[in-house]
Amino acid sequence: MIARGSPARYADYSYRMRKYVIMGVQGSGKGTQSALLASELDLVHIAVGDIFRWNVQNHTKLGAQVRRTMAAGELVSDDLAEGVVKERLTQHDWNYGFIIDGFPRNERQAEFFLESYDIDGVIYLVLPDCEVRRRVMARRLCDGCGMDYNLIDNSPREEGRCDVCGGKLVQREDDTQEALAVRLREYHEKTNPVLDIFRRKEYVVTIDARPDKAQVQQAIRVALKLPPYRG
Ligand code: AMP
Repeated sequence: MIARGSPARYADYSYRMRKYVIMGVQGSGKGTQSALLASELDLVHIAVGDIFRWNVQNHTKLGAQVRRTMAAGELVSDDLAEGVVKERLTQHDWNYGFIIDGFPRNERQAEFFLESYDIDGVIYLVLPDCEVRRRVMARRLCDGCGMDYNLIDNSPREEGRCDVCGGKLVQREDDTQEALAVRLREYHEKTNPVLDIFRRKEYVVTIDARPDKAQVQQAIRVALKLPPYRG
């Protein structure tokens, strides 16, 4: 018998393949929480917005197609979003599973996803809109390596410079008051109904995203019956 919480039990536990979706309004910490879960469980973190942003930064054809839509805070077409997800998942580098962040964002995408993949759970991070505005306006991104910062509780050592690569910290093009208002509207109108689809299948765990990141991660672990966060 392996003791609860021991490394051997942990390794054994993480062996099973797991497939999760993480949902929540902008700034609710989807990226941070996905990364924490992914690193310990060896999941591949698939952030659809990051894939689009990479394409914009690298001036690809796809980047040119989505740049204006993204900057305005609107959703890009379902065909493009589904294409990105399909292509990413066909790489099959997710031996232990994946956590997908930023998809599905409307009912059509949810149906596409459920037809193609079975999932083990949906993590729904809840954050009030006033807190969303505060967090999103404080968000900064390194234009070199893409590292995320937040001037509220995760500032760089040197103002405006990335701790990792020394790159310049910038605001995301869609982290403006105007684009955020559009994104919040899109979210409430289109993404909330997706939760109802998942709820009918009893996949959803609802997590308060207001506490600090370690507490939120721990709440996710408890809700999904995973080993505790060792932070
Ligand atoms: P995010 O980083 O998740 O906030 O996504 C940034 C932007 O990428 C969104 O505002 C959309 O323009 C686009 N995007 C990301 N995921 C999707 C999706 N599933 N469907 C449509 N557009 C998306």
